[in-house]
Amino acid sequence: MDYFPIFLKLQDQPCLIVGGGEVALRKARLLLAAGARVRVVAPELAPELAELSAQGRLAHLAGEFAAEQLAGQRLAIAATDRREINRQVSEAAQALGIPVNVVDDPELSSYITPAIVDRSPLVIAVSSGGGVPVLARLLRARLESMIPAGFGQLARFASGFRERVKARFADVNQRRAFWEAVLEGPLAEAVMNGDDAGATREMERRLAAGDAAPAGAVYLVGAGPGNPDLLTFRALRLMQQADVVLYDKLVAPELLELARRDAERVYVGKARANHALPQQDINLLMVRLAQEGKRVLRLKGGDPFTFGRGGEEIDTLAAHGIAFEVVPGITSASGAAAYAGIPLTHRDYAQSVTFVTGHRQDGSIQLDWPALTRPAQTVVVYMGVSTAAELCQAFIGHGKPASTPAAVVEWATTARQRTLTGTLATLPGLIEEYRVASPALIIVGEVVELADKLAWYRRIENSAVTIQGG
Ligand code: SAH
Repeated sequence: MDYFPIFLKLQDQPCLIVGGGEVALRKARLLLAAGARVRVVAPELAPELAELSAQGRLAHLAGEFAAEQLAGQRLAIAATDRREINRQVSEAAQALGIPVNVVDDPELSSYITPAIVDRSPLVIAVSSGGGVPVLARLLRARLESMIPAGFGQLARFASGFRERVKARFADVNQRRAFWEAVLEGPLAEAVMNGDDAGATREMERRLAAGDAAPAGAVYLVGAGPGNPDLLTFRALRLMQQADVVLYDKLVAPELLELARRDAERVYVGKARANHALPQQDINLLMVRLAQEGKRVLRLKGGDPFTFGRGGEEIDTLAAHGIAFEVVPGITSASGAAAYAGIPLTHRDYAQSVTFVTGHRQDGSIQLDWPALTRPAQTVVVYMGVSTAAELCQAFIGHGKPASTPAAVVEWATTARQRTLTGTLATLPGLIEEYRVASPALIIVGEVVELADKLAWYRRIENSAVTIQGG
């Protein structure tokens, strides 16, 4: 270990920054965030520093650096672009035993500043020993994405109960079990969602009952359209906490990989014709698992509330008093649009977009055709490949010109993506010719014409093919 990490208490402590530019500004902000009394030595200040000085948040010593200015300082930072001055600051500070950092110059520094992830009161500092600051910053970015924004709130909330929990559970193991149940369960999610009142009630109940059992809950999580990169931070975090993962056909194996290693995985697949598990059984399975105290993750393709039967699933959960949370995902229409270069709305072509299902009900496709065939809109059809011919015919039959551009996007956002563009007249033939199968979306409207111009995806991933016809 080349450097010894510590967290320094700087509240109301005098700190000196030499330099008045952008770098000095960044350092001043950090020191101010830690409550330090900041003085900046520089002939002139950059506008934002001048503003902080005008607001009285820091003091400006106009002029050149002089060693006397270091008297009584707890910390010094040299942030000028003149190495000679930086060296003077460094030497003078070290002579007085004051920790000094020269920005981007480990040789002249007695301490270095880490990359910081701030979830106060929780703070993570990362250092590469001054050698490769970029590496520390990259690591920091990863940590930022892993640690929920509300983690600071959670830390504050939990520390408020620390003494009482200690008093309630004399046994260390019990105490640990209690905290694990609280910090990894629905209570913690409530705090991070800003529901302090609800979390406090549950905490009081647990303390009164001496309840250290894990709390079951169901997380209905949108997994996005298939590309694991399109998960939300929240989805990923919950996947890594889950005890059981229920998934279906639309969830790609690469996505499932990201769930906790020892989580139980249950396939509840839903091929349109052969339901692996009827919906009602899935609902009741989730209830039972949650009642056993498990954290159940129901992973759904796209967004759970967009043709995802999310509403029905939480209905059953709510009826059984199970704690649940719905995490939105990128719906496949958004994924397909971006990856095929087909904007769903466009100032010149479409002022609105409608999502419909191409599923047959009672033997036919029941849709509001007069509304769907009006001009200047985009229609995205989910679950419509197998009924594509009937759909396109209905569009035309209800007055949409046969030459209206139409596209089908199969396996959108994944390496298997294929985009076929044509018209209402030609699309069914293309779908048949190229054997397009589910999952695929049909997009109808003038915006489809932009596909060629705006498709960035296949330029990068040449495994994704675009075929133009008609
Ligand atoms: N909740 C999902 C939709 C479930 S319905 C969502 O928000 O996307 C299933 C239909 O979604 C499929 O029949 C197909 O039309 C569409 N779909 C899902 N993933 C897709 C993908 N990667 N590419 C194209 N269509 C997809």
